[in-house]
Amino acid sequence: MMVDELAEWLHECREVFPKLNKYKITCEYGKLSKNVLGCTSRLIRREISADDILLFGESRKPEKEFEIKINEKLKKIERENVRKEIVQYIMVHELLHLENKDLSTLSKNYKKRKKKKIHVKEFDNEVFERYNKLRELKGLSRIQKIEDLEFAIHKIISKI
Ligand SMILES: [Zn+2]
Repeated sequence: MMVDELAEWLHECREVFPKLNKYKITCEYGKLSKNVLGCTSRLIRREISADDILLFGESRKPEKEFEIKINEKLKKIERENVRKEIVQYIMVHELLHLENKDLSTLSKNYKKRKKKKIHVKEFDNEVFERYNKLRELKGLSRIQKIEDLEFAIHKIISKI
């Protein structure tokens, strides 16, 4: 059986996002436009769960469920350790949007989406902090400067 690397890597990332424990989040590789490395969408379940009726006596309110998509071109990064770091950095970025509730605000109202600036400097710094926290949990050394990390990611991605 093939190991689902994304599920495993996402599981690790969620360690630094305890507030999101109540959500179901899945992740898969998919086709995204060239410059988009990842995106998150909310999945809406409409069907009534027969299992829930039998097990809990009623069809329970659907939990919030989200899906993170990672650009499939990243699969071309051959070294697994390197691919993992880049993918996890993207996951941390997406999870922080979820924690900040950027998505729910965004999807509701297009005008708001245009007005609300979500990629501000503090956001990027917070992604960097969480990513470093994750690295520490995994026993990797911190990356000292955000510029170094961006340089490294850009360099690797530009080659694939
Ligand atoms: Zn973003």
